[in-house]
Amino acid sequence: MLGQMMSQPLLISSLLVHAERHHGDREIVSRRVEGDLHRYTYRDLAKRARRMANALAGLGVGFGDRVGTLAWNGYRHVELYYGASGSGVVLHTLNPRLHPDQLVWIADDAQDKVMFFDLTFLPLIEATAQRFASVQHFVLMADRSHMPADSKIPGLICYEDLIEGASDQYDWPVFDENTASSLCYTSGTTGNPKGVLYSHRSSLLHCYGCALPDSTNLSARDVVLPVVPMFHVNAWGMAYAAPMVGAKLVLPGPALDGKSLYDLFESEGVTFSAGVPTVWQGLMAYTEEHGLSFSTMKRTVIGGSACPAAMIETFEQKYGVTVLHGWGMTEMSPLGTVCALKASHEDLDWDAQLKIKSTQGRALFGVDMKIVDENGDELPWDGESAGELMVRGPWIIDSYFNRKEDPLVRDKAGLGWFPTGDVSAITPDGFMRITDRSKDVIKSGGEWIGSIDRENIAMGHPAVAMAACIAAPHPKWDERPLLVVVKKPGKEVTREEVLAFFEGKVAKWWIPDDVVFTDEIPLGATGKMQKNKLREQFADHVLPTV
Ligand code: AMP
Repeated sequence: MLGQMMSQPLLISSLLVHAERHHGDREIVSRRVEGDLHRYTYRDLAKRARRMANALAGLGVGFGDRVGTLAWNGYRHVELYYGASGSGVVLHTLNPRLHPDQLVWIADDAQDKVMFFDLTFLPLIEATAQRFASVQHFVLMADRSHMPADSKIPGLICYEDLIEGASDQYDWPVFDENTASSLCYTSGTTGNPKGVLYSHRSSLLHCYGCALPDSTNLSARDVVLPVVPMFHVNAWGMAYAAPMVGAKLVLPGPALDGKSLYDLFESEGVTFSAGVPTVWQGLMAYTEEHGLSFSTMKRTVIGGSACPAAMIETFEQKYGVTVLHGWGMTEMSPLGTVCALKASHEDLDWDAQLKIKSTQGRALFGVDMKIVDENGDELPWDGESAGELMVRGPWIIDSYFNRKEDPLVRDKAGLGWFPTGDVSAITPDGFMRITDRSKDVIKSGGEWIGSIDRENIAMGHPAVAMAACIAAPHPKWDERPLLVVVKKPGKEVTREEVLAFFEGKVAKWWIPDDVVFTDEIPLGATGKMQKNKLREQFADHVLPTV
């Protein structure tokens, strides 16, 4: 017997319709590439998104076609999120930090018909426009006064002209909720990037999951500033969740340095934010240097790579900002786990709480997870056994865009699990701790040593700004951990002092064999440490043998 409830499809346009009706006056504030602050409301957004839907149709973009964006977090980008996806067009957000060759490859793989780009990327597009073979129109996301006088880009369109030339009367179409809504490529370190094609249904279910009290706990009283870019897995769902709950949205544009972010947090009364650890490092260096604190910030999600315990401690104990350590992947829309304490943890002392808060947390309802050994056999949730983390759920990838091979591992019943490539352990009460990416694990004498714990400890040293732990060749043990350290400006620390800092914190054989100092650790396009590059750089490093 079937239930007798409406089978209204879950569509991205409904978020905007809801926000316009129930939170029409709520503000969206954006720092523009042009430098100024722009303000308008969800009502204005809805109107301009309808114009954009009409404009796309006018450009010959149809249902299921892809349009690309090379853009920062800003209101025009949000208009495209809704104007494109809402009308059944697939919004493809490209990461402008990638190499131009990769951008050309990705746009071609996606067959993007239109490319929207911010003023920042005008030189990039001028240099590469001819190579984007599938792109029929280039649109500069600016007003007429910022259009270049004699652009080399053929038929360059002005975004504001495009919007003004289109009607604001548009009925959002109703279609199957499994229709593709947006496309994002993984920032894989080897091989070509792979496209992850989200659906309206997966995006909406993820959005509900995102807003739950033990995830971000977003509400109509919040002021949300996603530092995480809208080209990094849809800003972790923030551009959908904010209109869903009626939160004010503050978009930082290209200004992601400590001072610009801090000024915006304070002037707009930001209560909630989200970003990768490297961004917070810049912000905290600024607040520390100027003796500042946050007057309205209440909580922030930190994820994308492991958040060091020292960062959680500073945010919570010094600034009174709750850190929600989150873990996820492009293939997971991205949210998989968030670390929020349980009732039984409330009376623990700070050190015990910090230990839990440093884990990647518990699975959101909707994400099923397990850990397996090399044979695929499930490992116990005892907090110690570490194996590859597998996940499944309605906002987790089933197959990559344009690729036939099945990424899933099927169980006997034929049900698929997505192998994350992360190695982790899970406690009996479900707190997951990533010990490594499987390709970054250090194999010492047949035993695995996770690099993340060692980095976490090193980053607790007052003179260490950043630390990466990588495998270095060893004649007896095959591999041993080598710690690569960037010192804080003006601070001094020796190799011996760093190694001594580990004593008493971990088993002796887990302490790195050596420490090297460097000026910079290479970061990838989404702010993650590129350990493959470090391994190349230090491939000839000779470890001390005693
Ligand atoms: P991406 O798809 O580019 O967002 O990268 C996903 C990968 O980032 C995951 O598979 C993890 O290896 C890593 N990652 C994300 N969040 C965390 C976290 N909180 N701690 C450790 N690694 C993380």
